[in-house]
Amino acid sequence: MNIVLVVFVLLLVLKLGTSIVLDLLNLRYAQARADEVPESFRDFIDLPTYQKSIDYTAAKTRFGIVSDLYDAGVLALVLLLGVLPSFYELFSGWLGFGVWGQALALFLIGMVLGIPSIPFDWWGTFKLEERFGFNKSTKKLWVMDKVKGTILGFAIGYPLLALLIYLVSAAGSLWWVWGFAVFFIFQLVMVVAYPMFIMPLFNKLEPMGEGDLKTRLFALADRTGFQAQTILVMDGSKRSGHSNAFFSGFGRFRRIVLFDTLIEQMDTDELEAVLAHEIGHYKLGHIPKMMAMAALSSLGMFAVLGWLTNADWFAQAFHFEASAQGQIVPVLLLFMLLSGLVTFWLSPLTSRLSRKHEYEADAFARDAMGSYAPLSQALRKLHKENLSNLTPHPIYSSFHYSHPTLVEREASLRFE
Ligand SMILES: [Zn+2]
Repeated sequence: MNIVLVVFVLLLVLKLGTSIVLDLLNLRYAQARADEVPESFRDFIDLPTYQKSIDYTAAKTRFGIVSDLYDAGVLALVLLLGVLPSFYELFSGWLGFGVWGQALALFLIGMVLGIPSIPFDWWGTFKLEERFGFNKSTKKLWVMDKVKGTILGFAIGYPLLALLIYLVSAAGSLWWVWGFAVFFIFQLVMVVAYPMFIMPLFNKLEPMGEGDLKTRLFALADRTGFQAQTILVMDGSKRSGHSNAFFSGFGRFRRIVLFDTLIEQMDTDELEAVLAHEIGHYKLGHIPKMMAMAALSSLGMFAVLGWLTNADWFAQAFHFEASAQGQIVPVLLLFMLLSGLVTFWLSPLTSRLSRKHEYEADAFARDAMGSYAPLSQALRKLHKENLSNLTPHPIYSSFHYSHPTLVEREASLRFE
């Protein structure tokens, strides 16, 4: 076995091992506190609900571990047994080595590689989420989502991949700089296009109906200098009982979306606080900051891609024939499958930045509301209704959590 494959196996085992250890640590930590509701949560959650949240954490953890093991097994088989080069030869023989043929080969191989995870997706929705009463999707809707997602992925991905492959042959050794530029512009367009054109393909988004709630929320938006044009309500309940709110876009394309499930669960004060939190993200410049981060990381990824395209040993190590040399598609395929082994270790960094933004948006909401109470109430409800793990292990949450824990957020709301 060559050194590249040895490194691959080591990285795979290291990631899998770390991930499972963290999962088990986290689960034990929650289960050790299952006998009674910890003091700080007694105000708002009863023992049966609290224990249900621990059961939900346990079920998700077990499911996560099984699917991680399965994914790692599939990845090892595909890369070590030369499955990928066989696919590549088969599809290239059929579709040719032209720009459009190679782009189609890449798309189709990507699709085939996605097949093994479909049963897990199904199980997660119709067994796991169903068991805890969260799933609202039907089998028909689930299948339709997959079909729509694939068609959409093709409509957007196929021309983009073709452009990327074209750049490699046309732009010379610095093709990756152009590749990055194309990708960055695409990301910018998607920030605006996603809520406007793509989300409506899957969900109904309607401006909030007239009434006291709308008046109050718009008044808040005015008071914080946000000047909302519309606040959209999304029928999240079509698929899941989980509730959420989010912000997207920038400039005059900015949008605030509230799930119908959230509106149902919360009273007006709490919804105001949630909206204030989302406005906080906007006013504090979190969106351009996150976009700059994303741009920086994709620049790094393209630089690595540029380097790997010229490294013959890379594709060869994974059993690609010499005839595949100089072709970008084998490198892209390998990159697609392997990058997760490296980016996994960046997760604590990105989570940390994200948590910093959450604290800032929380403080903004508290100041806009003149009190920490409404946001604190809203967060408690969100955690309770979504059966979130109230006592994650500190190492686990600092590694994986994009949001601080409830305890951390409440402490920061009250004392900072
Ligand atoms: Zn937030």
